[in-house]
Amino acid sequence: MTQWKQYVNPALGELLGALNLDKRFVRGEGTRLWDEEGREYLDFIAAYGALPFGFNPPAIWSAIQAIQTSAEPSFVQPSDLRAAGELAERLVALAPEGIKYVWFANSGTEAVEAALKLVRIKTGKLGIISTHNSFHGKTLGALSATGNDGYQKGFGAPIAGFNRVTYGDLGALEAILDERADEIAAVILEPIQGEGGIIVPPAGYLAGVRELCNKHGVLLILDEIQAGLGRTGTLFACEQEGVIPDVITIAKALGGGIVPVGAVLYNEAAYSETFATKHSSTFAGNTLACRVGLASLTELTKEGGALLQHVSETGAHLLAGLQAVGAKYPHVVKAVRGRGYMIGVEVGCDMNTWGRTSLLGVMAEQESLTPVLSSYLLNVEGIRVAPTLNGAAVIRIEPPLIATKAECDRVIAAFDRTLAHLAKGNTAELVGHLMGVESRPQILPAPTRRVQAEPTGESNEGRFAFLVHPVDLRNYPEMDQSLSVLSLEEIGTLTERFYGLLEPFVAGSTRIAAEDGSTAYGEFVVVPYTADQLMAMNHADAVEAVRKASDLARDRGAQIVGLGAYTSVVTRGGLHLRNPGVAITTGNSYTVVSAVESIYKAVSELGTLRPATSCGAKPALSSEVAALRPTTSCGAKPALSSEVAARLDRSSIAVVGATGAIGRSVAMLLAEQIERLILIGNPSRPEMSRKRLLKVAGDAVRLLATLNAEGKSFAPGTIGAALVEATRGNLPDPHDESADWAPFVLQLETLGHLVITTEIDTYLPQADLVVTATSSTEDLVTPQNLKMGAAVCDLSRPPNVSRAVKEARPDVLVIDGGVVAVPGRPDLGWNFGFEQGLAYACMAETMLLGLSQRYEDTSIGTDLNLETILWLRSQAERMGFELAQLRSFDRPFGREDWERLRAHRQSILQATGAD
Ligand code: PLP
Repeated sequence: MTQWKQYVNPALGELLGALNLDKRFVRGEGTRLWDEEGREYLDFIAAYGALPFGFNPPAIWSAIQAIQTSAEPSFVQPSDLRAAGELAERLVALAPEGIKYVWFANSGTEAVEAALKLVRIKTGKLGIISTHNSFHGKTLGALSATGNDGYQKGFGAPIAGFNRVTYGDLGALEAILDERADEIAAVILEPIQGEGGIIVPPAGYLAGVRELCNKHGVLLILDEIQAGLGRTGTLFACEQEGVIPDVITIAKALGGGIVPVGAVLYNEAAYSETFATKHSSTFAGNTLACRVGLASLTELTKEGGALLQHVSETGAHLLAGLQAVGAKYPHVVKAVRGRGYMIGVEVGCDMNTWGRTSLLGVMAEQESLTPVLSSYLLNVEGIRVAPTLNGAAVIRIEPPLIATKAECDRVIAAFDRTLAHLAKGNTAELVGHLMGVESRPQILPAPTRRVQAEPTGESNEGRFAFLVHPVDLRNYPEMDQSLSVLSLEEIGTLTERFYGLLEPFVAGSTRIAAEDGSTAYGEFVVVPYTADQLMAMNHADAVEAVRKASDLARDRGAQIVGLGAYTSVVTRGGLHLRNPGVAITTGNSYTVVSAVESIYKAVSELGTLRPATSCGAKPALSSEVAALRPTTSCGAKPALSSEVAARLDRSSIAVVGATGAIGRSVAMLLAEQIERLILIGNPSRPEMSRKRLLKVAGDAVRLLATLNAEGKSFAPGTIGAALVEATRGNLPDPHDESADWAPFVLQLETLGHLVITTEIDTYLPQADLVVTATSSTEDLVTPQNLKMGAAVCDLSRPPNVSRAVKEARPDVLVIDGGVVAVPGRPDLGWNFGFEQGLAYACMAETMLLGLSQRYEDTSIGTDLNLETILWLRSQAERMGFELAQLRSFDRPFGREDWERLRAHRQSILQATGAD
């Protein structure tokens, strides 16, 4: 931590550090800088235009030394300031016709401040018209003229009297002057907008403004703080337009690159005695600054203005060179513009080319690409450039006026190489230096146009958005192929550096056309943090990250926002996203539906769940075939074949994460079909877990009681049958909210039909079927804690089943729960790692709610509503959503996989002689 980062600007220090832009320069000479390690850089920022002669120009130091030699005093107000008088006389002689007076200040913003006060006191009017996207400084008056809301917000700016019009639009200026000229003191403009992104106005604009000001009796201030004193090839930029303003502000270059100084030059029309007696500043007009100003003017004008001529000619060469480079990469370079040594390169990207599948495209959209390119140019090419302050998509190229043609050529060539990487979407190449990675050869596919769906804006079309995030670091190269040359560790470092730099973004869009004729447009919004990163953040920051994404989705028109993966976990199932201003869902209800359906499918494919009775499983109870019956009491159609039911009613099912929303509902839905339910909670909080698990078990028992009250019969040996038997059907009224279910839970626990535990390694080996739905990022299910021949449905993302199970336990079936085929199998606009048209069930729920235009909070918190679950199931069926082919370890589980698994299980059966 350096002193500057610690004591001066920690926030900027962090940002610069993340991009390796935090060099400490120890020496500067001409156009060159050297850092602490002795590396040399070519400087093309020139302190935002304040270094006309580069670093440490000898002529300026000589002027300073001459003061020392002569012992001329510097601060002698009030008196007749000799040096100030000489500099003012010189400026008046060089300035456009009519300029007669000079007022001194210590910086650009103070010069603007003085100019604003001057015109107000002179005219007796407060009105000032400035332009959008302008930059005039950051003290309150100047900031009020600066056309950037972001800089004004929170500072009480603009102060009274300020209005803005569009730069370059004479009609807009005319309209406001026609209406309110009697309130307006002056119009303030830059001859070329600098921080706005090097914007050159249309030809004749400045002259038109002058004419309008004349017509309405309004003064004209030209702010030449950046564009003046040689930067555009003439001493004053307005000379090139043949325009004479009433007031000119200058600063930057006047100080010769060493001393801060500003000045206001003005004509008789702006002169005011009151101003002269009421405005002052201790340091203004000091000897040091004024002698330096004189030396700077001498340097700028010597040899018949050779330096200005050089800027004009070499600037044209630099502009033409950069424009030629820009023309080579039209889909990433939007414009190259400017005049003299004031040039801007505007970068962007066509989002339909590689925009959404590349981090570079995302950064371009968020206007954070220019700092990254500046970092590449600095660290790899040794060239300093910087983005403009308002126009964040523009890289400014503002060399010291002494920069040579050869130096300009070097910069042109460096831009060519940099933009070539950008045009290819080669993120790894452009950010590799941040991780100390040398250039690695890459073969990147040619950009393919993937045209995204657009909203129709019609009222019969549903609107949804779904929030996603990279599950882990492996997702980055899946999204941005160029990152595949980096190791996971390098990608980890990269994401840490980009922490806070990347905002949520839209990764893809899609249109769903359901079988019942309804349609919905949806967008996938990425929260740019992995599961581990979201978990490591403090809670408020994580919720804020999700909120930003949901705000983006809402502002773009979504009416229902689905919280994918950890965006749901960190907001506690959406509960902590207070007042998001849009309906939200976790998608958990439909995840439950699809999980249960996946389990039925797996069971029916497998034949039996009990190939062996080893590992301490209870002896089999009854094997009678259960009657075909609906899964619940809510009128849903039967979902379970008698064959599947028969296999389930002899099984033990463990739910890992049973206190969570999904685990709880899956446990409840399955309870009626099975013999034994093992509810497993979080071992890090055993007491809390037991309390919550008891509640979940109570809910399950209550559901069984409901079924019983409705006259459903349970298959012999199942939990339901045991409950009825043990109580002789004497159960509380399930609708009685005050009923206590705990005694029945305990009874079922004693009978061995229910297990409530946090000891996963003890009880998991007893389960025929395991469902995991936790927010743990760890491997909870391992080759060591699974029963022989068990089936696992892993709903957790990141998964809870160790990858080692795949190799070490060929007897075990692991399915990734919750993958659904979307009707019509549409392109979802980006790659989830599935085939086209497949989606997670939680996404499908969001789509279903969008298609149904049911814009209300759904599946929030931990207690999912059974009615909603069933409504979604029937809605899905009507609209044509269905369970996708089962997948295992992120791959489809095909015919051959089933055959191999069945054969393996058969051989175990034979070997053990089990049933
Ligand atoms: N006006 C213009 C046109 C500028 O470009 C700037 C600075 O970039 C200012 C005013 C403010 O000058 P300073 O930063 O010296 O306060």
